[in-house]
Amino acid sequence: MSAAETLTKIIATVGPASRSPDTLDALVRAGVSTFRLNLSHGSLAEHADTVREIRASEARTGKVVAILADLPGPKIRVAGAPPEGIPLEAGHLVRLCHGDRCQTRGDAARGEWTLACTYAGIVDDAEPGHRILIDDGAIRLLVVERHAGELIATTLVGGLVKPSKGVNLPDSVVRADPITARDRDGARFAVEHDADFVAMSFVQDADDVRRLQEMLDRLHAEVGPPTRSVRPRVIAKIERPQAVERIASIVDVADGVMVARGDLGVEMDLAKVPVVQKRILAIARAEGKPAIVATQMLQSMVDAPVPTRAEASDVANAILDGCDAVMLSGETAVGKWPVIVVETMARIAREAEALAAPMVGMGAPPNRLVRERNRVAALAHGAMRAARDLNVAAIVAWTSSGTTALLLSRYGFTVPIRAASTSLPALRSTRLLRGVEPLYLPTVPASFGEFLDTVESMLVADGRVRMGDLCIVVTGESFDASAVQASITIREIGTGPVFASPPSRGGGR
Ligand code: PEP
Repeated sequence: MSAAETLTKIIATVGPASRSPDTLDALVRAGVSTFRLNLSHGSLAEHADTVREIRASEARTGKVVAILADLPGPKIRVAGAPPEGIPLEAGHLVRLCHGDRCQTRGDAARGEWTLACTYAGIVDDAEPGHRILIDDGAIRLLVVERHAGELIATTLVGGLVKPSKGVNLPDSVVRADPITARDRDGARFAVEHDADFVAMSFVQDADDVRRLQEMLDRLHAEVGPPTRSVRPRVIAKIERPQAVERIASIVDVADGVMVARGDLGVEMDLAKVPVVQKRILAIARAEGKPAIVATQMLQSMVDAPVPTRAEASDVANAILDGCDAVMLSGETAVGKWPVIVVETMARIAREAEALAAPMVGMGAPPNRLVRERNRVAALAHGAMRAARDLNVAAIVAWTSSGTTALLLSRYGFTVPIRAASTSLPALRSTRLLRGVEPLYLPTVPASFGEFLDTVESMLVADGRVRMGDLCIVVTGESFDASAVQASITIREIGTGPVFASPPSRGGGR
């Protein structure tokens, strides 16, 4: 019998603590559905090795695993700080600048420092009265003057500025291009290495997302693997207040969103982050897009083998809020207990899902799809009601692109939705969807009847259904010449179909 995964998907960031073959295998077996490559760290050559290891682990474990390449974006950093750091104290005066004639240096006795920043527009974008935060907000400056080529700031909260520490400008409209030269290299890497998702950092509006999607379309046509029919899907990381203000239009164009609480908690008042998280998840759910909650979910487990009570509650609450996936960063990349972290997250998820299931997704199809009169969305809605009324043991969706599985996953089913497909890229694209588990078919069935028989025997073989159980089979599109398109079939295991809806023509998608 194969154990059911958690309904909520688990994303683990790969790093030095987790990239060995044994650890990757153990992480997959513990419940990771998607590995994240953080392209802010390490070289592309190292990430290419990691991709090979992940694909090898997928083959060894027999589980479908997706890869999410997280682009660095225009993260501003302090350049040229000495290894021992710059000891800023409250009241110290700081000049901030960029360019050849700007070097990080200073005078501790006089309390005056110059900090070179990696962003050319810092002097134009920040103005007197704006805050400048360094090292995730641990060090706080206030701009008091702006001159040609430099900002003058006073230190409100001091600290040691170590090399390459991040700089955030929470009060300024940062006009940095959200797609940097490094991001372009990362996007090409993602397409060439068959990544399933690309996460875009510091998105400010829907146009940013569209630009990356267009770039990925071009790259896909140029260097994409022939086995993949569509470019990697784009996950918009919501980590700037401007993105929160424009969340509806960003959700509309993005393929999914991530509540990136690390930078979000620096860029806006930390007190607002829990409520913003709930709002983003509600909008993503209403529009039918998958949503990830990220950062510091089980942070204390970087060192400790058990989480804090507050962290366990945080994971559970993200699930009760209706997220599709929860993400681990440092916990699996550099932590001491990567596998125990994933096992712990899965345990918390199972408990929360038992309560969450009746609470989410019992409404109508996503707004956008009602507006578009999307037939497969309506079918998925009907399937959800029938599944609940009949207390089915399984739901199976034939999916060649992942779309039917996506639509079904919006309804908060309490039993897994088995996405059946002959396409590995399509199955990998479902690995961020709540409640969806892949069912890989080696060959396209010759007929609808053969498809039903094949999936039934696979479900029986993995021990998740028994004779006499009911299951629902949904097809959003045709998979053979018999042209069964949008259909729902209610199948009693062991006895063949008891009812099949008449096939409707035209997918409407
Ligand atoms: C975050 O800020 O929460 C995040 C996920 O992004 P990164 O880890 O790249 O800073």
